[in-house]
Amino acid sequence: MGLLKQRILDEGKVLPGNILKVGSFLNHQIDTELVFEMGKEIVRVFGHKNITRVLTVESSGIPIAFMAAHFLKVPMVFAKKSKSKNISEDVYSVEVPSFTHKNVNTVIVSKNYITKDDNVLLVDDFLANGCALLGLNELVKQAGATTAGAAVAIEKGFQDGGKKVREAGIDLHSLAIIARMDDEHVYFAD
Ligand code: 5GP
Repeated sequence: MGLLKQRILDEGKVLPGNILKVGSFLNHQIDTELVFEMGKEIVRVFGHKNITRVLTVESSGIPIAFMAAHFLKVPMVFAKKSKSKNISEDVYSVEVPSFTHKNVNTVIVSKNYITKDDNVLLVDDFLANGCALLGLNELVKQAGATTAGAAVAIEKGFQDGGKKVREAGIDLHSLAIIARMDDEHVYFAD
């Protein structure tokens, strides 16, 4: 997606630890026009798949998932990072290591908001090692629902998340795939 790639080139900052900072348009301040276009692009790719719910994990996937769900005319659900050690019977839960914070979050979603009849599109902002998307996929499995596919804004193709997600049989579409990046520059895969 050209618009997104141009913003990454213009405003992205590469931080130590293979982290790309895109706070000026996606992760802190949000360019709603850009996210609107991202939502439309996700629907162009997945619109034919009879999706019934869009699932992301708080917090940075929410704007993109919201736009995709809006255009798909289905509810958007965000899995929550639980602060409590006592997980209630009313939720599905999974442990997800965080790429950016280096901790492990217990991520939960209410059993009311994914059911076995759902065909779920997973959405996130970044794909690095795949823990977030595979965790969301696990929540879908616990519900006995189906994963229709996964859409991410930025896949860091030099990390192995894309491979793991595709090997799990998930139809993955990334709006921008970064082949490599250094202090000076970001290089896209295509
Ligand atoms: P994964 O679970 O695939 O290892 O990492 C994906 C999650 O970590 C995303 O939800 C995203 O919030 C965060 N993340 C991974 N890499 C980056 C990055 O380079 N920049 C930012 N801002 N977040 C990232």
